[in-house]
Amino acid sequence: LQPRRGGPKNLPIAEVYIDDDETKAKTKPRLVILGGGWGGVALLKDLNPDDYNVTVISPANYFLFTPMLPSATVGTLELRSLVEPIRRILSRVSGHFIRAKAEDVEFSHKLVEVSQLDHKGKEVRFYVPYDKLVIAVGSATNPHGVKGLENAFFLKDINDARMIRNKVIQNLELACLPTTSDDDRKRLLSFVVSGGGPTGVEFAAELYDLLNEDLTRHFPRLLRNEISVHIIQSRGHILNTYDETVSKYAEERFARDQVEVLTNSRVKEVQPDKIIFSQKQEDGSVITKELPIGFCLWSTGVSPTALSQKLAKKLGDSQTNRHALETDTHLRLNGAPLGDVYAIGDCSTVQNNVADSIVSFLRKLAWSRGIEPETLQLHFSDWRTVAQDVKKRFPQAVNHLKRLDKLFFEFDKDQSGTLDFGELRELLNQIDSKLTSLPATAQRAHQQGLYLAHKFNKMAKISDAMLANDIRDGDLDAAVYKAFEYRHLGSLAYIGNSAVFDLGDGWSMAGGLWAVYAWRSVYFAQSVSFRTRSLMAMDWMKRGLFGRDLVA
Ligand code: FAD
Ligand code: MG
Ligand code: MG
Ligand code: MG
Ligand code: MG
Repeated sequence: LQPRRGGPKNLPIAEVYIDDDETKAKTKPRLVILGGGWGGVALLKDLNPDDYNVTVISPANYFLFTPMLPSATVGTLELRSLVEPIRRILSRVSGHFIRAKAEDVEFSHKLVEVSQLDHKGKEVRFYVPYDKLVIAVGSATNPHGVKGLENAFFLKDINDARMIRNKVIQNLELACLPTTSDDDRKRLLSFVVSGGGPTGVEFAAELYDLLNEDLTRHFPRLLRNEISVHIIQSRGHILNTYDETVSKYAEERFARDQVEVLTNSRVKEVQPDKIIFSQKQEDGSVITKELPIGFCLWSTGVSPTALSQKLAKKLGDSQTNRHALETDTHLRLNGAPLGDVYAIGDCSTVQNNVADSIVSFLRKLAWSRGIEPETLQLHFSDWRTVAQDVKKRFPQAVNHLKRLDKLFFEFDKDQSGTLDFGELRELLNQIDSKLTSLPATAQRAHQQGLYLAHKFNKMAKISDAMLANDIRDGDLDAAVYKAFEYRHLGSLAYIGNSAVFDLGDGWSMAGGLWAVYAWRSVYFAQSVSFRTRSLMAMDWMKRGLFGRDLVA
């Protein structure tokens, strides 16, 4: 079983560990998937069991059902109910699993370099060969260059949730000690969430539920008015990527629940016992403020993982987005050999989607008026139509470009009331450089995973015939399958016993208890297995009957 060595670094090559057997391995392409999260698992879900020799590489040997992670931090759900063993998921396709971290990809040798600590705790490195590689490694927490983040908690993984839960309960117990001064008690019970996106908001809501529902019962010594929950948000509103009605609803709800929302505020530093931030005032001046903290959650958006950054750098000019790995519309990694490497989920973005779409829209508009696109003079009313189209197709893009209307006037440099071709080009350039056009959501990763599964299934069937027809060097992806198109199915967020929905297209709803059930059932349906579903249902029932589990 001694592996052969090779590749640019002459490392062991893990062939024997990932090939089914000598004969089959030669005919079946090796499909290697980096990451066992939403993207990778969706791909596994719909892949034909017999077409590929599948290997998943991930440092975590479980899939994590992230939408429920905020609930797990306060004991509404058990942590183990949110995870599903990868090996279990892989059994359907008789796949292999290697618990390790991808460090690099040698594109011209078709090798992934991986690392892991061996049984002696020593780092070992080796190569895993592929015919097709799917990069689905997700994202990292964005530190925004803020000092003192070692004093904050993150919420990405199951261990994060465990640590948060322990910390929250520990603080409550410490606050109850007779030796704790009033000031210290107030500080221990001051919970600060930095980031007003869905994760921060849901965590704050869950925490509020916990404090309200269980605390009065189990910690009667603690006075409700000694406990405080704060959300620090850099923008003018929380849930600012959602429809306005949704973010209003959330703010009103929090105002009623006495969760303090601090908008237009930027965190400067997190110290062990306080957080320092600057807040823009209505008159435009900026003042520095601070809050005592017993706990701080840092959830201010995502940034690329070390692997993504490394690969983007390696691919040079073909990768120009600073936020994610760029792919073409067939989800093939730009700059890598065509049809070898794909990237999906949070780690990726489809290049030029928005600008391309606007360009083709304008082209149609021009032709319909019987003129050349280059001579098109775009009036504001035309721009509104374009904006409507963009809003429908790229809801996430619009969130970043909240003021599509204002863009028109910004780029009408000569203030003629129309945008000419040059002005439009400037505007499109800006749109492209500023955006990852797809949202960093489970919904998107899931759709991209399914897309690749369906395409790979088709390719496995067709490739022999195509090769016989001598289309060997052609673009097989485009020949057998359509380009990826994102369908926005709406966003959801949970806010203190109620849920808000943003269904895109101007539809939004916010509601009471019925919404919570609707919200749960949506995620029930998205959840991967009956096992997970049953475990979560039991947790909710248990919580309903006995309250949360406050042991840490
Ligand atoms: P992930 O699901 O993060 O998976 C990445 C995988 O890659 C993991 O298995 C990881 O271990 C592995 N990995 C990392 N580095 C390496 C490496 N170097 N080599 C190999 N493997 C590696 N989205 C929604 O749509 N709705 C929600 O309600 C929602 N709620 C969320 C709540 C929380 C608390 C969080 C953190 C996220 C939430 N999201 C939600 C976002 C959603 O989880 C992500 O968009 C989604 O997980 C992206 O899928 P992915 O496959 O790209 O990455
Ligand atoms: Mg994944
Ligand atoms: Mg995941
Ligand atoms: Mg990914
Ligand atoms: Mg003009």
